[in-house]
Amino acid sequence: MRALVVGGGIGGLTAGIALRRAGFGVDLYERAPAIREVGAGLSLWPNALHVLDEIGVGARVRALGHAQGDGRLMTAEGRTLIEMSMSVIEEAGGAPVLMLHRASLIEALRTGFDGAVHLGHELTDVAQTGERVRATFANGATAEGDVLVGADGWRSAVRARVFPGARAEYVGYSGLRGVVARPASVTQTSESWGRGARFGLVPLVDGRLYWFACWNAPEGQVLSSAERHSRALETFRGWHAPIEDVIRSTDPAAILHDDVREIVDLPTWVHGRIALLGDAAHAMTPNLGQGGCSAIEDAYVLARCLANFPQVEDALDRYVRLRRPRVASIVRDSRAFGSFGQLENGLARRVRDAITVATKGRYGREVVLRYARTRPHELLEVTE
Ligand SMILES: Cc1cc2nc3c(=O)[nH]c(=O)nc-3n(C[C@H](O)[C@H](O)[C@H](O)COP(=O)(O)OP(=O)(O)OC[C@H]3O[C@@H](n4cnc5c(N)ncnc54)[C@H](O)[C@@H]3O)c2cc1C
Repeated sequence: MRALVVGGGIGGLTAGIALRRAGFGVDLYERAPAIREVGAGLSLWPNALHVLDEIGVGARVRALGHAQGDGRLMTAEGRTLIEMSMSVIEEAGGAPVLMLHRASLIEALRTGFDGAVHLGHELTDVAQTGERVRATFANGATAEGDVLVGADGWRSAVRARVFPGARAEYVGYSGLRGVVARPASVTQTSESWGRGARFGLVPLVDGRLYWFACWNAPEGQVLSSAERHSRALETFRGWHAPIEDVIRSTDPAAILHDDVREIVDLPTWVHGRIALLGDAAHAMTPNLGQGGCSAIEDAYVLARCLANFPQVEDALDRYVRLRRPRVASIVRDSRAFGSFGQLENGLARRVRDAITVATKGRYGREVVLRYARTRPHELLEVTE
């Protein structure tokens, strides 16, 4: 069987590796002239690390990151609300919460994929005839396979062709991300909550620091590099040290900006011999750090289903039944976390902070654990 994988991000590369491991021929098509990620950090939870182990690339990925370690949830003024212990999650999950640079993850996945990679191939159309699926690319090339995997991100061209009614809906806040040299004062992960805004600091290996910020904003702002920098400084002016210094020391050209979105009005993730995975199927809010982890899980489950069912349609049907309920639950919980963190009203924020302190963050920990502790074999069990 020959699989066409569209997209060379976390989901597409993992799908390529998992499909090759299951014995399939794989051609991967990426629109960019190179497989690479621009600079920011990423957390991989135990659920995803176990999958990467299962498909033979876990050790390589683990070697490029480090355990996130314990952290703190704070106020904008720098008061600690709760200590966030990662050991509970690591013990229950049986693996570290790995923090690494995205470029390192992509490089490790690229190295682990031994199928054919076709760069500069932007998918423009898909069509199915009988038992074949055909892809057409902007450069005039075409390809045929037995199954096509749409792993082409939240603006998925594959999804647009087969489910034109689906939309990527803005959730009300925008995100900025950057990587700088780590100031000596930052020794652990923290997330700080202010009025309709949050700021996170996460140490990476090699003396670097990953920072992320979210703030409530109208949809569709287009910010130049300089504006990203000045917007971050304006929004987080007066927040506790070293937030302003961290922003100031970031190269404006390296600050990433995304409106945070979720995919809605998508009736299913498969259509004949075409399957969507990762952000193409379920772009989600980043609050649980499970978007990329879910793409990794999708890729693994899809490959197992294709290996276990002789008919592609049956395999894809099982894939959707296994994945959709779990991912829908992650999307919901992630969104709820974000709404909690992005509160603006002063009274609501005081109540939120008081509940967080009183419960020592128990609810959040339980939600995180619900997904982080899942082992690969459990992903293959139908629970609905
Ligand atoms: C602020 C923020 C923080 C996050 N933090 C985390 C975290 O800590 N942990 C985590 O697990 N997740 C996190 N995520 C989510 C994670 O980044 C995504 O879920 C993940 O990157 C999705 O991977 P993907 O492969 O599905 O899509 P993408 O990474 O978008 O990759 C899609 C690929 O397809 C290519 N492509 C697009 N269109 C075409 C086309 N027409 N033809 C060919 N190729 C095409 C693109 O060039 C790209 O290479 C975060 C997201 C954000 C916004």
